[in-house]
Amino acid sequence: MTIHPQLTIPETIAAGPGPGNTDARVLARFAGAGLADHMHPAVLRGMVECKEMLRDVMGTKNVHTFGVAGTGWSGLDVMFSAVMPGDTVVMFVNGTFSGIDGLTVRMKAATAEELAANPMDPQPASVTIVTVPHGQSVTGEIVEKALAEHKPKWAAMAHWETGSGRVNDIKGFSDACEAHGAMGLVDAVSSLGVEDFRIDDFPGVHGWASCPQKGICCLPLTYAPVSFTDHYIDVLKSTGTRTFVHHPIMEARHWGIIDGKDVGTGTYHRTHSAYAVAAFHEALRITLQQTVAQRAKDYTFHEAALRDAVTAMGCEVTSNMTSLIVLNLPYDMAGREMELVQHCRAQNFGIWPTLSEPVQVRIGILNLLNQQAIEDIVVRFGQAMRDLGAEFSQDAVNAALDRHYGRAIAAE
Ligand SMILES: *Cc1c(COP(=O)(O)O)cnc(C)c1O
Repeated sequence: MTIHPQLTIPETIAAGPGPGNTDARVLARFAGAGLADHMHPAVLRGMVECKEMLRDVMGTKNVHTFGVAGTGWSGLDVMFSAVMPGDTVVMFVNGTFSGIDGLTVRMKAATAEELAANPMDPQPASVTIVTVPHGQSVTGEIVEKALAEHKPKWAAMAHWETGSGRVNDIKGFSDACEAHGAMGLVDAVSSLGVEDFRIDDFPGVHGWASCPQKGICCLPLTYAPVSFTDHYIDVLKSTGTRTFVHHPIMEARHWGIIDGKDVGTGTYHRTHSAYAVAAFHEALRITLQQTVAQRAKDYTFHEAALRDAVTAMGCEVTSNMTSLIVLNLPYDMAGREMELVQHCRAQNFGIWPTLSEPVQVRIGILNLLNQQAIEDIVVRFGQAMRDLGAEFSQDAVNAALDRHYGRAIAAE
């Protein structure tokens, strides 16, 4: 028998695409919750309050708005559960995560025969994958053209593709879905809580799924936000789906959503953790107190500073998300991306490579919305570049930061 020593996990700077840096207030609520069971009135009330605050964060009147225990993929699995074998789907893929969404959709839409033919990577005839090259966005024209041609039951894409750091055209997507009678499904894992948008402004989209640990800053794995229109729920009611735990209608019951209506308290669906409910509740309170609009402004402001600083080091930024920059190293360092990332990570400076080709470097600023944090990232990244032999002008980097933050102390 081996009893390992107590696990110690070091302090790191989470400067990647996610998870983000959880607010101390969230951790305090997590650790401060009492051991109430999942049917305790305070827990049930907390879940109802979370549901109500989540509607404000997402900008929706959808009754079916709640959290799914787990990570982004858990929420996405609930959202895609309405896709049934043989359903026609057009899926737009422009990076790692929409690529996995595409795999999920192919698994759900495959007939029994199609799944058995290639169980880990089915290729159902009813699914069309439209691939947009890494580093480019899915545009409204691309969606319009594909939906006009295929007229599918469902259309799906990532709002923000975190693999390549690209923002996709959500309005163009929603408009095309409406024009061609497709029900839109959107992976909003990276955009919720970072961009200022209201899901109800996109009526072509009927299902949304996000995650706890990126824009919502609630890493103690809590709840993946999801929201569904009444139309989505009606379609699901008519087809059913083959899951109990991830069934959008059944899962909603514990959040006090029964027969399409809010009821005072929920009924049992599965065990919920008082710790998770308390943490999620506080994360939503923080988001609403700071406001989604202000956080979005802060992301835009600080991303621009970081972008200019790494550009002054000779890097080329190819992303347009505001929580993350994706960059190519200067020409003479091309091919050394993994070496650089490993070097940073070895110092608990948690930046990331891309997870699919081409290899690029990703630096994120989730919940690092202040000058000090950004300057710290710039210093660490610049030092790591120099350690690998890069040469650049520190004056140019400082000047880039000064343009955004102003000179804190006048130079003599
Ligand atoms: C992070 C991410 C996911 C996966 O989320 P997990 O929390 O790792 O399950 C899915 N889609 C997008 C766009 C993401 O950024």
